[in-house]
Amino acid sequence: MTTYTNFTVETDTDGIALVTWDMPEKSMNVFTAEVMDELEAILKATVADAGVKGVVFTSGKSSFSGGADLTMIRGLFSLLHEEQAKDPQAAKQKLFDVAGRMTWLFRAIETNGKPWVSAINGTCMGGAFELSLACHGRVAANSKSVKIALPEVKVGIFPGAGGTQRVSRLANAQDALQMMTTGQSLTPQRAKAMGLIHQVVEPGELVTAAKQMIKDGLKPVAPWDEKGFKAPGGGVWTPAAAQLFPAAPAILRRETAGNYPGALAILKCVYEGLQLPFETALKVEQRYFTQILGTTEAFSMIRSLFISMQELGKGARRPAGVEKSEFKKIGVIGAGFMGASIAYVTAAAGIPVVLIDRDQEAANKGKAVSEKLVADSVAKGRMTKEEGEKLLSLVTPTPDYQTLADADLVIEAVFEDRAVKKAVIEQVEAVIRPATIFASNTSTLPITGLAENSKRPDQFVGVHFFSPVEKMMLTEVILGEKTGDRALATALDFVAKIKKTPIVVNDTRGFFVNRCVFRYINEAYDMLIEGVPAAMIENAAKMAGMPVGPLSLNDEVAVDLSQKIMKASIADLGEASVKPAHMALIDKLVNDLDRRGRKNGQGFYDYPPKPAKKSLWPGLKDFYPQKPAAEVDVDTLKQRLLVTIALEAARTVEEGIVTDPREADVGSILGFGFAPYTGGTLSYIDGMGVKTFVALCEKLAAKYGEHFAPTPLLKDMAAKGETFYGRFDPYGQGRVAA
Ligand code: NAD
Repeated sequence: MTTYTNFTVETDTDGIALVTWDMPEKSMNVFTAEVMDELEAILKATVADAGVKGVVFTSGKSSFSGGADLTMIRGLFSLLHEEQAKDPQAAKQKLFDVAGRMTWLFRAIETNGKPWVSAINGTCMGGAFELSLACHGRVAANSKSVKIALPEVKVGIFPGAGGTQRVSRLANAQDALQMMTTGQSLTPQRAKAMGLIHQVVEPGELVTAAKQMIKDGLKPVAPWDEKGFKAPGGGVWTPAAAQLFPAAPAILRRETAGNYPGALAILKCVYEGLQLPFETALKVEQRYFTQILGTTEAFSMIRSLFISMQELGKGARRPAGVEKSEFKKIGVIGAGFMGASIAYVTAAAGIPVVLIDRDQEAANKGKAVSEKLVADSVAKGRMTKEEGEKLLSLVTPTPDYQTLADADLVIEAVFEDRAVKKAVIEQVEAVIRPATIFASNTSTLPITGLAENSKRPDQFVGVHFFSPVEKMMLTEVILGEKTGDRALATALDFVAKIKKTPIVVNDTRGFFVNRCVFRYINEAYDMLIEGVPAAMIENAAKMAGMPVGPLSLNDEVAVDLSQKIMKASIADLGEASVKPAHMALIDKLVNDLDRRGRKNGQGFYDYPPKPAKKSLWPGLKDFYPQKPAAEVDVDTLKQRLLVTIALEAARTVEEGIVTDPREADVGSILGFGFAPYTGGTLSYIDGMGVKTFVALCEKLAAKYGEHFAPTPLLKDMAAKGETFYGRFDPYGQGRVAA
């Protein structure tokens, strides 16, 4: 047996070398420069050793590999930025060479003369699947944990290590494009049906089956290196391709509004590559890959959606020196809409939870939500019956506060009413242990104020969930003035346990996410009042990259909730805090027309019974004189919607509400889907340059109002040529990457 840092190689009596990838001190195998060096050494050694007849490549971990390593990608960008300043042309060349390292290493495996079989035992993503594609045989275990994907497009790039060329030569072009432009995961069965893998076998037989392929005489030649090779479907000059390729860019444009250069590059690589000899096609892919790596979109998306998201998830903001929390029991008070789902996600993480409401019946109603979610998951095959029963056994509905006596953390999700919350805080504190942390899921009440009802405000924290809790990946952790480190650490540990991404926000009205969301919705009110047709507002938002238009979003959160929040704002901050025309619009919808949103079937949209689809309410047209569509500039609408949100995010930084740019970026994408291709609110500003952003704000302020005026911080940054990630360096101030 030969041992490398990340691999072991063991050759059996049949001359088959089993290469097992098992990186020390990592839960998941990833590609690093060292891994590639070792892989190259293994390739050389197995080629040189006449006793080796073939190679089986597998993983020693429960998953196969997650693909590229964060630090490697970060290194690529540093390289680009540093070298670009010195010599742009040389920087491009260097990036091209680095980007090609995997491509040509995998090609060397493919052409080494001895058969390689990849034995895929678990999740196999990105570069790891591209390596597998370069092997001559691929066997996957028949297991739910095997997920195969080329998900690079989700972080703004694309499979650039031969993926676009091999997938489109194994599967038909339509399936290939679908898989790569969506980044969707495939089951082993689906991958086999597409032609991407050869066999699916029971997990215990994986390596044996892989070795058997070699013993059965697997040819060490890729299909495309054989004379007369034809891609499935026949390449690009066939009637089927004549239907697919002209339509594909249009479909992609419909799905992405042209905002994702990485997705478009996949189409180009496949279309151009299929017309070329294989190695020339690899070079074309390498060129596009280099080009895409140089885009602002790729840089910002990788930073936010890959690096920052993982860092925040791993506790980048967790105070050091606080012992890791153990959760043996969680209490949730209020078994309503939010509390019931919070109990579900807690139990789904394997933690026992008591779900308390005012009486047994109300508590049971809360548990019924878990029962329904479990039944749905079992029916869809996402959970076994036993797993479902186990989950449900962890949820105990009760009106009895005494059951909280041994809880480690209590989360309150009762009515949004200060008096009700005060009573609950007192009732809970009367029974819990001195060390227990109390968290409130309030969405509008400042944590500092609520904590005044607590005898131990240092153990009081906000944990703000988003609905639907079981789907939304973000949780805001809110610090009151007196919240202590242990409360913060406990909240972050809990959020990590339920597999959500936290952002840490200082106390403010609306916290981070809702402050941004209301700016988005308010801008849409302004547009309506100007006479912009509602459909144009909604479409402009989608074209700007927002997943949901502002009016549709307002219907989801409820129009009467907006009314409540506006009224509370007027009561607390004065008349000037809400535009009278906005109040008039919402009062008319709610008070006069009972249009409260999706929940009562009518809001900005009409919601007819299924299967009919919702449509914008035509009556909205009569509220304000309508501008002819030709007089409305869609690009300006797009800018207004994104700029108003980004400006609000910048204000939260200026006010010290958000202190780490990673949180404003990740929070905006996970919280309300802020145009992901921008990398989030602050990356949107950094990406265009603060100076450009300030100029844009000034232009919009002159025409659409003072709310677009750039803030002092932005002006200062523009004058100094700073960026958010430079001025508020997340890796400075003693903070480190997790
Ligand atoms: P809800 O009305 O659906 O549920 C509240 C539950 O609390 C009810 O079941 C009620 O019976 C129970 N309750 C009231 N007083 C109680 C008491 N003294 N003891 C025990 N139980 C009591 O409300 P919701 O939408 O789930 O909101 C709950 C909290 O979550 C609020 O603070 C709200 O601001 C916040 N929140 C809501 C959303 C949302 O989208 N609805 C999102 C984030 C946060």
